[in-house]
Amino acid sequence: MFKWFGKVNFSPYTKVTEFANHLKDGRLMGSKCKQCGQESFPPRADCGKCLSGDFEYKEFSGKATLLTYTTIHAAPTGFEDVAPYTIGVVDLKETGRLLAWFGDTISDKDIKIGMELQVVPRVFEELEEIKVYYSLEKPGTTWSAAESS
Ligand SMILES: [Zn+2]
Repeated sequence: MFKWFGKVNFSPYTKVTEFANHLKDGRLMGSKCKQCGQESFPPRADCGKCLSGDFEYKEFSGKATLLTYTTIHAAPTGFEDVAPYTIGVVDLKETGRLLAWFGDTISDKDIKIGMELQVVPRVFEELEEIKVYYSLEKPGTTWSAAESS
């Protein structure tokens, strides 16, 4: 089990079952506006560009480039026992920016700004709310590969 379970800051997605089902398959989903073609991540039902509510899910590659990163030594309450840990901000290849933890496939000494990364979605579910977080892994890493480490 992923050691950060219960400690990361989850992004809540309420009642978006389809989105969660895709994520459970290890697919990173954004949305695409059917009217103007605008793509968004995280997915949004209402287009930020033309305000249309007519959208479809689109699978994103998860390919991303590291924009910046930081190693947390003085961890906030609840995170003390996992510090130090490293988080990064990436630009997704398609569109969007995402803050995520580095996963086990990358060691801190190999982290370089501008490096290629694979965003791997991970899902936890509660009754009414689906919680998602992401980890940054070596290019080509899949959910199942990352999970087995
Ligand atoms: Zn639109």
